[in-house]
Amino acid sequence: MTDGATPGAQADFDSVYSVSQESSLPRLEVHMLWQHILQVSRAWLIAHDRDPLAPDTVARFLELQSRRLAGEPMAYILGHREFMGRDFLVGPGVLIPRPETELLVETALDYLQGLPAPRVLDLGTGTGAIAVSIALNVSGARVAATDLSADALVIARRNAQELGAEVEFFQGSWYDALVGHSGFDLIVSNPPYIAACDPHLGQGDLRFEPALALTDGSDGLSALRTIVQGAGARLKPGAALYLEHGWDQALAVRQLLQQAGFTQVASLQDLAGIERVTGGIYNQG
Ligand code: GLN
Repeated sequence: MTDGATPGAQADFDSVYSVSQESSLPRLEVHMLWQHILQVSRAWLIAHDRDPLAPDTVARFLELQSRRLAGEPMAYILGHREFMGRDFLVGPGVLIPRPETELLVETALDYLQGLPAPRVLDLGTGTGAIAVSIALNVSGARVAATDLSADALVIARRNAQELGAEVEFFQGSWYDALVGHSGFDLIVSNPPYIAACDPHLGQGDLRFEPALALTDGSDGLSALRTIVQGAGARLKPGAALYLEHGWDQALAVRQLLQQAGFTQVASLQDLAGIERVTGGIYNQG
């Protein structure tokens, strides 16, 4: 027998191996749940997958498994999600960081290269993933971040603290959170850009995430419009604004930027080949 079991023998205890065989979840997700419950590495888990499990850990697994089978995002069940190589706390009430948002951060990091002590603003920070990643990757950067949601700011502050990032947080709607602050070298945002009528809001992970972080409750462009139109008053001349947006919004965002006095307006494609980030340089003021 290649798997080491005696033919016909039935183990009288539960093991990671036996529970995994019975699960209808993908093997990777089963392992992620066990790693979370047992607080072990994947390598350890695989090496010990025939060890007997305590009954209470099996009960815990079954509880988490049923949440996952009901569609709850893995990041909410585990309480964290990797972004730009770091682990961020997430919780209900806050958007789960997405891989495509790494393009926004990478674009920001490229732009900030060589700028001494740049001032950066992240609008609608959620978990703080963008602001914290910028603060940790740009030495001397002074990063401010806002969110309307008090729940999001609790998580964002914890992320900044646990990852050792210096970020100043403000609560409020877009620029209203920042009375008296201007002179930024860069503004970035991943605002809610899904149109209220988009059926995706009722599907998959999005059903579990806060509507406030996903949709503007309108045509999908209203938050992007507010951010673009208010940016000039907050940016230094020659400074940049980069925005994440939906798969079909790049042209509209480029037009908004051009109308608001931005030049060198361009869109960048994510790993799926979708124009996902658009930005430009503010030349007036
Ligand atoms: N990118 C997310 C999604 O489409 C939406 C988040 C947002 O609106 N910023 O699932």
